[in-house]
Amino acid sequence: MSDQTRFILNESDLPKNWYNIAADSPLPPTPVLHPGTLEPVTPDFLSVLFPMDLILQEISTERYIQIPDEVREIYKLYRPTPLIRARRLEKALGTPAHIYYKYEGVSPAGSHKPNTAIPQAFYNKAAGTKALTTETGAGQWGSALAMAGNFFDIAVEVYMVKVSYQQKPYRRNLMETYGAQVYASPTNRTNYGRSVLDSDPGSPGSLGIAISEAVEVAATSGGAKKYSLGSVLNHVLTHQSVIGEESLKQMDMANEYPDVVIGCVGGGSNFAGIAYPFLRENLKNGKRTRLLAVEPTAAPSLTKGVYTFDYGDTAKMAPIVKMHTLGHSFIPPGIHAGGLRYHGMAPSISAFHDAGLIDAVAVPQLATFEAAVQFARSEGLIPAPESAHAIRAAIDEALDAKIKGEKRVILFNLSGHGNFDLAAYEKYLQGDLEDFEYPAAAVEEAMTRLPQAAIPA
Ligand SMILES: *Cc1c(COP(=O)(O)O)cnc(C)c1O
Repeated sequence: MSDQTRFILNESDLPKNWYNIAADSPLPPTPVLHPGTLEPVTPDFLSVLFPMDLILQEISTERYIQIPDEVREIYKLYRPTPLIRARRLEKALGTPAHIYYKYEGVSPAGSHKPNTAIPQAFYNKAAGTKALTTETGAGQWGSALAMAGNFFDIAVEVYMVKVSYQQKPYRRNLMETYGAQVYASPTNRTNYGRSVLDSDPGSPGSLGIAISEAVEVAATSGGAKKYSLGSVLNHVLTHQSVIGEESLKQMDMANEYPDVVIGCVGGGSNFAGIAYPFLRENLKNGKRTRLLAVEPTAAPSLTKGVYTFDYGDTAKMAPIVKMHTLGHSFIPPGIHAGGLRYHGMAPSISAFHDAGLIDAVAVPQLATFEAAVQFARSEGLIPAPESAHAIRAAIDEALDAKIKGEKRVILFNLSGHGNFDLAAYEKYLQGDLEDFEYPAAAVEEAMTRLPQAAIPA
């Protein structure tokens, strides 16, 4: 064990390859289906939305995918990111556990999301894309893509969930500063947005609706615009593997190996980013690290959703995948961890969870903010409300280790800082936040609207 607190890698330690879990997965792949025909999608259908390099990564079973030099040069603006031992938090908890966190909030946009925004912009530029459309919830993904698009001279059009657009003006300002166009979704710019507004003029929006709008704009642009997604897809999870690959080296510097690796999950990208390189070690090298995905009780796709085929978006324009889902018609309660309010989950995480290779837990909003404040007061950093879910679970692990008198080694991903989320902290400190349990009956009801027929078992 090392007596250091911060474990810092050199620029030369920046990974040269992304790690693709598909190469080592013991599970059969599940098909991706066309939302209209319910038949397996063809690259033709996907190529309306994505450049071919990313489609090939999406279906690749190569273990390692080389990171282009142009992408590595931009990664160097903030990578390798630090791994820090939370010694003051350990003391505050009085735990024999060792708590480490990987800190992705040092990226210019403040979260892990540039890890995939940068390569997505790069491959689109190489394919001649003129503009990228996307959705954003809390604004983290939109700001990462706005930054990356600007670096590669591609226009970026962001459909931002209306309630977040209103609650989080600073994230919108950030996106506009990077040069992006930001619209409050549902908008009247798309057929789908207009149909939502017709039936519900006061709609707060949802990620599912915003995805539908961004997909519609790209799909009807005659090829000039492509669509970009910040989570869920295989290629996104692969890009995020730099988090776990660096963490493996840094845990080695600390002379320890994690008993448990923890990440919050919205669509699953930062969790997969830190966890999949450790899952590889479990599958191939006999390690036995527990991998724990943490979600809000208000959007509990892994712990309360059903593992089945469902649409990726509300308007049924995006591909159908097999995943843990609350139903594509899910309209999330207005909790503050905006980035965790998606109805589905990355197909690979869903499959690993179903097979018992990944654990999941749901935590309520108040206990999550309590953990965030305890973390801020001991370690100094204000975490993003999303990341605070991982902190809640890490603290619970450390307290459990204390009861059992175990020297457990805990590693969690601190996916982003919360400097733009202070309005949520204000509400918590004033006692204005509430817990929300997503009702099982709502899940059951939504399951009646799953894609029907021809779906393989
Ligand atoms: C977007 C976001 C998340 C959730 O997305 P994943 O794809 O599940 O990682 C978590 N934390 C932060 C800081 C985010 O911006």
